[in-house]
Amino acid sequence: MTPKEKLNLISAGEVRVRFAPSPTGSLHVGSARVALFNYLFAKQNNGSFVLRIEDTDKERSSSEFEKDILNGLSWLGMNWDEGPKNGDYIGDFGPYRQSEKSSYKKHIEKLIKDDRAYHCFCSQEEVEAERQYLMARGEAPRYNGKCSQLRTEETEEMIKKGKKSVIRLRVPLKKVKFKDIVRKEVEFDSKIMGDIVIAKDLETPLYNLAVVIDDYEMKISHVIRGEDHISNTPKQILIAEALDLPIPEYAHLPLVLAPDKSKLSKRHGAVSVTEYKEEGYLPESIINFLALLGWNPGTDREIYSINHLIKDFSLERVQKSGAIFNVKKLDFINGFYIRQKNIDDLTQICIPYLVKSNLISKDDSGNYRAGDSQREISLDFIKKAISLNQERLKKVSEISEFTDFFFQDNLNYSKDLLIWKDSSKEEIVSCLDKVYTILSEIRDWQEKEIEGKVMQEANSTGDRGKIFWPLRVALTGKKSSAGPAEVAEALGKETSLERVKEAIQLLKE
Ligand code: GLU
Repeated sequence: MTPKEKLNLISAGEVRVRFAPSPTGSLHVGSARVALFNYLFAKQNNGSFVLRIEDTDKERSSSEFEKDILNGLSWLGMNWDEGPKNGDYIGDFGPYRQSEKSSYKKHIEKLIKDDRAYHCFCSQEEVEAERQYLMARGEAPRYNGKCSQLRTEETEEMIKKGKKSVIRLRVPLKKVKFKDIVRKEVEFDSKIMGDIVIAKDLETPLYNLAVVIDDYEMKISHVIRGEDHISNTPKQILIAEALDLPIPEYAHLPLVLAPDKSKLSKRHGAVSVTEYKEEGYLPESIINFLALLGWNPGTDREIYSINHLIKDFSLERVQKSGAIFNVKKLDFINGFYIRQKNIDDLTQICIPYLVKSNLISKDDSGNYRAGDSQREISLDFIKKAISLNQERLKKVSEISEFTDFFFQDNLNYSKDLLIWKDSSKEEIVSCLDKVYTILSEIRDWQEKEIEGKVMQEANSTGDRGKIFWPLRVALTGKKSSAGPAEVAEALGKETSLERVKEAIQLLKE
């Protein structure tokens, strides 16, 4: 397909976008946001979402990171239409890994043949010295163009002699203008660029050249990426012009910032999608949260499913200024989606966390057992323990600290915790004695019944805290939990009575 035909294709409106991560680290939340905006734009335009692995930096790229990126995207539900898949590729425009492509050479040769690029034999030291000189004079560091003057014969001679070279683009002096869907008109002066290096040799393109060739060969219509790439865009446009290739449309997304407005990095906490997954954030929460990182829906609405996003998202409503990554908002959204889960699904999501914390295990016959005692417990019991905490969970990983007392026999709390405000030890012992008697007389071990009977006593005591506080601590070993009556019902009468008795003993020690 000629560049002209390609242009026709773009104007025919076929949307083809790409997410082009370099596998030099795990999937960063900022990159996942770039992937999401591409994905949403593709889906709402019946277009294609292409995944391209930019692994030309062999030293820093690894297949482990690539795997992490692919797994992260799949877990988030962003399935790509083209790209690497199960050890192979899907799509007609592969290979989708830059390291496996062989088509760069012909483009580099064409640039040289057309005199749009040239071999540069200057040593790194020479180039660096020139940079330093210009910077000391307060000028933009750029190549002085020495080798651009070489005649073809001189160049050939040097190559014959085995002199090492790189390939530089002849950068014309001009204002490079482009329309950006987010930033509107953008203009760069090529003067400050100098002749940029675009390839290490005829077979090894550098980032900017590889991107231009790949975007062309993969028929990319829109380049949607982070603003950190905006200074690359004029370079890529100049390269595309030199190769006589069509220019895609651009949208540069605002950077993802930490609350202190610096670029979000490891020192601010978790930054990879895998870390968030392990902490117990649901994929639908992360998608919802990432969508709001830079996209302004124009309403107060904060909850968006992926299908709503496909419908409502628009690149035109992406803001220019940096987007603050606010974990509290993520927690709020995650809490919402956790509450939406039916209890069977939530239980299956929580079980691995309980197993990891050694609170439960599964024996060879598939029965669940409680952590320390190894007594058999039913799935219903686990479900009950989880459902009592569904309302308060913000992250699935919190399930272990919220429910440990259901699975452990030894609660290990300090006896001071049993004391309500300025009550005396003796008062609390007497309250717990009364609670013990009341509980032991209950036949119908149901939350309502338990709550009613204990409440009667609490009301007659005058200060309900004197009854409910030590009861809660006795049952859970904690200051906060689901209501003591609900907990008592779930634990069962026998365990509840035992725990009240243990609390009384503890106070008497
Ligand atoms: N490989 C680049 C990165 O990981 C993205 C290149 C692009 O989107 O043009 O930052």
